Amino acid sequence: MTEQTIPCPACQTPVAFDTAGLLMGKHFKCGNCQAEIALSDSSRSTVSSAIDRLEQLKDADQD
Ligand SMILES: [Zn+2]
Repeated sequence: MTEQTIPCPACQTPVAFDTAGLLMGKHFKCGNCQAEIALSDSSRSTVSSAIDRLEQLKDADQD
């Protein structure tokens, strides 16, 4: 599981999240201001297709 950080929309503190959890509708909380970060249904499919493209790039790279 890949863990990344995203800047909190409220205070810009990096918030750790994992892409798989985010795609499953999991919410991640900012440790500084407790703002919740989650994907809406529409952005979830956008992120999902972006990840698919990344996976394809990774596969192409291995050849
Ligand atoms: Zn915050």
